[in-house]
Order: sequence, then structure tokens, then C-alpha cells
Amino acid sequence: MLPEWVPDGVDITTPNAARVYDYALGGFHNFEVDRRFAEDAERAWPGVIQLAHDNRAFLGRAVRWLAGNGIRQFLDIGSGIPTLGNVHEVAQYAAADARIVYVDIDPVAVAHSQRILAGNRHATAVQGDVRRPQDILGHPTVTDLLDFSRPIGVLMVAVLHFIGGPDDPARILREFADATVAGSYVAVSHSVPAEDAAGQENVRRLYQRTPTSLHVRTPAEVVGLLAGWQVLDPGLVPISDWHPDPEDADDPAQRSAFGGVARKLS
Ligand code: SAM
Repeated sequence: MLPEWVPDGVDITTPNAARVYDYALGGFHNFEVDRRFAEDAERAWPGVIQLAHDNRAFLGRAVRWLAGNGIRQFLDIGSGIPTLGNVHEVAQYAAADARIVYVDIDPVAVAHSQRILAGNRHATAVQGDVRRPQDILGHPTVTDLLDFSRPIGVLMVAVLHFIGGPDDPARILREFADATVAGSYVAVSHSVPAEDAAGQENVRRLYQRTPTSLHVRTPAEVVGLLAGWQVLDPGLVPISDWHPDPEDADDPAQRSAFGGVARKLS
């Protein structure tokens, strides 16, 4: 029998990016097929589980930075299954009145987010596909909670590398730039070519067995996606080099994912 947190219709026979990432971060909303995928990926490319932790740490620092720069509204797209260091916890710790809408394509991520946010009047979660920005921007829950006449922090952390083929991430980022006012920001992290090219290629092949294949892009290509946004200091850099916390100084540099924060061009 399936656990009560599994929404109807969820395919538990195919690994899924949200649940694999949840397992890598030590969460409990995953199945045997996801755990096996994560272990296979770690064997094929040692360090990929640490990469998930480093990405999550980048997300937390980016949210703190945005809150410190006056952002009180967050639209977190490809938000994942709530686990360590959730955006609403980080943002509402920095500013109790911060508002957050989580958006994910994965029903487990959305259902669990809605469950832990019950009673939080300033945070909610909806199902949505980043490839369809207008559906997200026009979703009544999004427009009820977020005021698009004021700056918004859009988060697309570790999601745009799941977009490719006929879907153009540059078009997606442009549509969000067009929908937000000056003073808004976007935070992005993205897989880039790794030193261990063979290991990364093995993991890319593993992802082809999931509903979301992986598209590795060079740092220059990722910057090129950000038309309409101005990348801020220190630029698009290895995620562990982006405003590192002093206590992270001894951690090995994570160079296979780059991240940064960009401001909407006025
Ligand atoms: N942003 C979170 C973080 O960085 O901690 C979670 C990242 S997790 C690696 C990627 C998430 O993107 C998964 O939850 C997955 O379901 C979601 N995702 C993949 N394709 C998506 C799409 N087309 N639209 C919305 N979410 C998507």
C-alpha cells in the first residue's frame, strides 16, 4: 500500500527528479526506484549527492541575500519537495511578512508543500510547468498572494537544466522579466560541464530514463539565457563561490553547477 502522502496517479515505477533530489538531501518523500537512481548516479559520478547539498545551500544564501536586499515576495519555480532549508523558512526568518509561492510540476512536491504550509497565510504551493510562464503568472493563487506591481524574487534553482529541446529557457526567463517590475531579481543555478566529463555524461544518460532529461550548458550559455536581466556581482560562478558563508570556506569547491543572481533591467 502506498503511503498517505502519495497523490493519486503518481508513477512510482519511474525515477523522478524531485524525489531523487529529496533522497539526496536526506528526505523521506521518495521510493525505491528514486533511491536506486541516486545511488547509481553517485556510483557513476561520485560527488553528485554532495552537489545536491551544495545547490540547496546556494538556494538558502540567495534567498537570504534577496531578503537582505528588500525582497518580500518570492516565486520559487521548480521548488522541489520541502526538506532542508525551505525558502519560506529562510525568507520568513529574515522578514516575517515575506510571501512565497512554490511552483513545481511534480504532484508529490506540490502536495507535501501544501501540507506543511497549511495555516501559513503568507506561503502556498501550486502545480505548474516552468515551460508555461503565462499559466504560472496568471494562476489565481499566484496573483492573490503576490503583488506584481512590486518587486519579486523569482527563483529558478536547479530547474532550467531540465529544460531543452523544443523548449527555450531564454524565452522563459524573458517572459518572467516582462512580467515583473524593475527592482525584481531572478536567482538561477544550472549544471555546467564538469571536470569528470565521463561521470557527468553517465548521469545525463541516467536522467534520460526520467520524465526530465538533463541539459548541461556552459556558463557562457547560461549567461546568454538571461537577456532582460543583469547578472550581479560576483557574476555567474560555481555555486559554492557565490557569497559563501565563512563556515563553508573549507568545503571543496563545487564547479559542476554555476549560479548567480540577476536584476531585472529597467
Ligand atoms: N529548486 C529546488 C532546489 O534547488 O533546492 C529543487 C530543485 S530539484 C533538483 C528540481 C525540481 O524541478 C524538481 O522538483 C522537479 O520536479 C522540478 N521541475 C522539473 N521540470 C519542471 C518543469 N518543467 N516545471 C516546473 N518544475 C519542474
